[in-house]
Amino acid sequence: MFGAVEIGGTKTDVAIGTSPEGLTEPHRIPTGTPDETLGAVIEYLSGQPVDAVGVASFGPLDLDRSSTGYGRMLSTPKPGWSEVDVLGILSGGLEPPVALDTDVNGAALGEGRWGAASGMRNFVYVTVGTGIGAGIVVGGRIVGGATHPEMGHIVVKPEPGDRFTGTCPYHGDCLEGMTAGPALEARFGGAETWAGNDVVLQLATAYVAQGMRNLVYTVAPERIVVGGGVSKLPGFHDRLRTKTGSLLGAYPHEPDLDLLISKPGLGDLSGLAGALVLAGTVA
Ligand code: ZN
Repeated sequence: MFGAVEIGGTKTDVAIGTSPEGLTEPHRIPTGTPDETLGAVIEYLSGQPVDAVGVASFGPLDLDRSSTGYGRMLSTPKPGWSEVDVLGILSGGLEPPVALDTDVNGAALGEGRWGAASGMRNFVYVTVGTGIGAGIVVGGRIVGGATHPEMGHIVVKPEPGDRFTGTCPYHGDCLEGMTAGPALEARFGGAETWAGNDVVLQLATAYVAQGMRNLVYTVAPERIVVGGGVSKLPGFHDRLRTKTGSLLGAYPHEPDLDLLISKPGLGDLSGLAGALVLAGTVA
């Protein structure tokens, strides 16, 4: 049995199992200070019959195994979490071995093992939610090096007439700054008003389609799985396919957009499923 942990910006889920179908009902902890949150994860998992623990966490994380800071959070706007040794604290408090990766890398691993990219060796998991990020798998391996990809912070072209300057604290008008949850909230008000508002759908998919185009041309994925809260807007994936198609044109060939762009096969369980895959690497 494995412990699966998904640390998000606002909530942390912990479950136990060996596959997404067999997972226990996730135990939910509000993500507070690192001490509170990681302490609650350790407390919950202590005494559970698990052989290894996988953790998919918000980032940015130092995932360079040769670095002295391996397993630490890097600079994050989330108060109190910068430089926190996430892997060290969990490994120190738990008996079984612990594996750590980012939330989107975890979701990619989960979707690749059991979900919408099952059996594929080249695919991307993109989340469009509080932030935008991508877990990129090429040749069956997660792409990363000096750091992990930060696809949400790519440059996008302003849509015609859009004078919004963006909400990214680092870049302003990057993809995430223009169309992640906080940007949509700044533009249109609370999330409860977005569903059925065609202007929101139009704008969000227009920018995310630019991201799709960049991924297609740099990574050549067989599939891009798009999840996250914003992607749950009714009609999001269909509109995204149409817009991505018009941005790609027929170059280098006519894409099959239904094959290219997909909803997550595991619904909200992609991250916890990926944590199970991660646990399997250290069991
Ligand atoms: Zn940015």
